[in-house]
This record gives sequence, structure tokens and C-alpha cells, in this order.
Amino acid sequence: MSELAPYAAHDAQSRGRRHPEEPPAQRSEYQRDRDRIVHSAAFRRLVYKTQVFVNHEGDLYRTRLTHSLEVAQIARTVARSMQLNEVLAEAICLAHDLGHTPFGHAGQDALNECMAGFDGFEHNLQSLRVVDELEERYALFNGLNLTFECREGILKHCSAMNAARLGDVGERFLKRQQPGLEAQLANFADEIAYNNHDIDDGIRAGLITVEQLLELPLFGEHHAEVLTLHPGLAGKRLVYEVLRRMINHMVIDLLDASSARLRASGVASIAEVRAQPAYLIGFSESLQAKNLGLKRFLREQVYRHYKVQRMTSKARRVVTELFNAFHGDPALMPDEHRATGPRHESLSGPHGHARAVADYIAGMTDRYAILEHRRLFDPGERT
Ligand code: MG
Repeated sequence: MSELAPYAAHDAQSRGRRHPEEPPAQRSEYQRDRDRIVHSAAFRRLVYKTQVFVNHEGDLYRTRLTHSLEVAQIARTVARSMQLNEVLAEAICLAHDLGHTPFGHAGQDALNECMAGFDGFEHNLQSLRVVDELEERYALFNGLNLTFECREGILKHCSAMNAARLGDVGERFLKRQQPGLEAQLANFADEIAYNNHDIDDGIRAGLITVEQLLELPLFGEHHAEVLTLHPGLAGKRLVYEVLRRMINHMVIDLLDASSARLRASGVASIAEVRAQPAYLIGFSESLQAKNLGLKRFLREQVYRHYKVQRMTSKARRVVTELFNAFHGDPALMPDEHRATGPRHESLSGPHGHARAVADYIAGMTDRYAILEHRRLFDPGERT
């Protein structure tokens, strides 16, 4: 790896792991984090989880796994160029969606409603819960025992109530501090990835057209450029040529604007980055405005499209009915997933029972949730 900037995350300055371990022999601490994430069961399940389009709708849509790989790829490019810790940025990106329920945001919203009386459900917090508690791989501890820097990056948002319960990793939400630059970068890499791939998937699904997209300056400018260079280009090659330019434009803007902000701030360590009043990584103001326009367009034209809404409504029903069935009768749940099972030593009482149900449902892939729903509600299905 090239030389790290003083404000990057350095192994030697890590705030460490919850359970102290010997330093790895051939890898950096953050390489170990990344490797543990890639080997986790939750990571493998990402392949059958989706965010907008449900897994069985087609083989070409992004899954949470391919989304996470795209996010990591974008973050690595920016991290390397800015002399940030590329491996830490990659690890955070690969882990950022581990806590997502089946069926994307529809599933998360439904589960949050089901958990209203039991401290709610939030996917960021769940990602942290997966790496801190739920993975069962090591003899000496629960979870993956990741470094503080990786955990702070995974916890993107958090309510004050939850922050107070989380200890060290929740502190910054109470003190209004910032996470390290690699974590800040992961958030923007996530935005760049999904805003662009949702256009691609939206066109593929027939929900939006190139003509509609021309109203967006970000798309329109690059579309004109592509047609000047390649008159008559059409179809998917035209879309890809535009999208790759959009991604590049956003990445370069993020690099330039963030580098300028870093220089102006004068920060010289990760401690100083954390003490800043706001993120130092971010788009320029002009790109920020265009990006908001793009998000608004996607919300109105893709996420609220009736075809997506129909799937969303089915997904909500599946998650809610699964929750109600398991919550009403824990005997329906496989033994190992119950609050009384070994996986949930720290859970007890009604809150513990509800949390165990939420953990079980959140861990399901789209297709497993559909199958489990059938097993519970379709008398003709094997149990
Ligand atoms: Mg994401």
C-alpha cells in the first residue's frame, strides 16, 4: 500500500478490538477485519438479498452482494488516491449492508413497526449487531471482533437512545463528533453506487426511460457528450457509456472537493478528523445539488413506481406476518434462533424474545423469507 496520510487510519493508532487479540502475523489489522467479513455467513447471504428489486425478479439486477462490491470498488479508488486506508475503507463497505432485512427498505420498515414496543429495528444498528454479536465463528467471543475503526464505520446513523447503550462506538453521536475519513468515504461510495445502479436497474426493469432521464442535468450532460463522440449509439451501450461517465464524474468531484476541504481544515490526525464539526469527505456544492435531483427522481420514478410498490407491499406483509407468528408463538421458531438458545445468551424477557425474532427475520434472505412464510401459512407446504 502506498504511504498513508497522517489523517488516515493507521494500524498503530487503532482503538483496538473489544476482545484483545495478538496482532496478525502477515496482515494488517484492517486486512484481518476485511477477511473476517468476507468469510462471515451474513456476507454470503447478501447474494440473495436485494434492495429495490426482489431476487426472483431477474438475474441481472443488483443484489446486496454486488452492490457492496461496487461500493467497495469506488471507495478503494478514492481511498488510494487520497492516501487513506484503502483496506479499512473496503472492509467498511463490504460490511455496511450486513444488517439489512430481506426485501430492502420495505422489510426494514415493516420490522421496525413490528418492533415499535421493543426499541425498534434499524439496519445500521443491525449491521453492527451482526459483527459484534450474531456471527458464531470463534471460540472465545461472539461476532467477528472487528477493530473500533471498522465498527464506527459500520454504524452510520444512530439515535441518541441507542448511542447511549452502545458504549465507545456510540459516543460520537452524543458528542457530535465525526467518524474517521474511511467511514465518511464509505457513505459517499454507497450513494454513488446505488444512485447509478438504480438508474441502470430501473431502465432494465422498464420503469424509466432514457428520455425521462434527460431531464436530470447529471444524466443529460453526459448523454450529450456520448452522442457527440458516438453518434447514433443506442440501447444498453448508450446507457452504460453515460453511467460510467456519471460515476467517474462523481468520484472525481468527491476526490477534489474532499481534498480541498481536508487541506483547508488543516487536520493532521484521525483524532482531529473526529473532532471536526462536520464531515470532511463530500461532494462539491454543485454536485450535491445535482445528486439530490437524481435521488428525488429515483424516489418518484423508481421506488414509488406501482410495480415496485406492489412488491414492497407483499414484502411488508411477509415480514409482518412472520414476525407476528414467531412473536406470538416462539415454539414455531427453530430452537437455535429462540431467545432461549445459546446464540442469545444476553437476551431475556419480552424485549429479548422480540429481539431474537427480529434477529431471525433480519438474517433471512428474500427467498428464505418467502419459503418460511409459505411453510407457516400454506397448509399444502411442508414444514
Ligand atoms: Mg448500501
